[in-house]
Amino acid sequence: QPVTNDMPDAVEGLKGVRHIIAVSSCKGGVGKSTTSVNLAYTLRMMGAKVGIFDADVFGPSLPTMTSPEQAVLQMDKETGSITPTEYEGVGIVSFGFAGQGSAIMRGPMVSGLINQMLTTTAWGDLDYLIIDMPPGTGDVQLTICQVLPITAAVVVTTPQKLAFIDVEKGVRMFSKLRVPCVAVVENMSYFDGDDGKRYKPFGEGSGQRICDDYGVPNLFQMPIVPDLSACGDTGRPLVLVDPAGDVSTIYGAVAAKV
Ligand code: ADP
Repeated sequence: QPVTNDMPDAVEGLKGVRHIIAVSSCKGGVGKSTTSVNLAYTLRMMGAKVGIFDADVFGPSLPTMTSPEQAVLQMDKETGSITPTEYEGVGIVSFGFAGQGSAIMRGPMVSGLINQMLTTTAWGDLDYLIIDMPPGTGDVQLTICQVLPITAAVVVTTPQKLAFIDVEKGVRMFSKLRVPCVAVVENMSYFDGDDGKRYKPFGEGSGQRICDDYGVPNLFQMPIVPDLSACGDTGRPLVLVDPAGDVSTIYGAVAAKV
């Protein structure tokens, strides 16, 4: 399938990228990076060529959640293009790998920096580029959506009512930019106790309501899973550690919709 890119100046380094998926949340800490990374490796295990761009300048997660041998991005001195670093077959670009004071960190504004990294990275031939968006719907998010021909958005939220109000903003932003929101991942949705009961510590309903109100066709509920968090901290995503587990099955279902 060709790149659906109707921008006048398609970014050179993105020309071989077939799908660009924005994984977004409106608040920090809801599990956006966990979702991005596990979704990326799920797609990889399904046989796709995948890259991840960690666009969170202030709290880059990829350096903790993955373990590339080479933890610094390489920049070609002549062309200025950035080569992604790699972990388990997935190309990775993160501000956390840029190195303090390196050439690619020059530039006064976050939007400028993001722009530079987005436009100078040579991604090569990819089926999916997953964008781990910074939380929120401000200038930086807009810049990313304007620079990148995003094909679909996955919105991550928690079941809380409070989350709903913020998530709504995000879905509206994508809708204004005509990016289809293909799935809502309601993260930390529940956990099953040893007593056989299902507990919902953060309430329920937010994910379903977003889908109903905004016509998002797919809702996925990811339970609270301590291993998901533990794997994030050790630098090896859970879907790689336990590819046949329940969590991997849910990410597999998300991957089938992007
Ligand atoms: P965000 O990118 O939205 O800031 P993270 O992906 O960094 O959120 O997740 C925040 C914290 O919650 C991390 O410590 C992560 O390991 C943990 N976490 C995320 N999703 C789950 C889950 N489903 N079960 C248990 N812990 C989770």
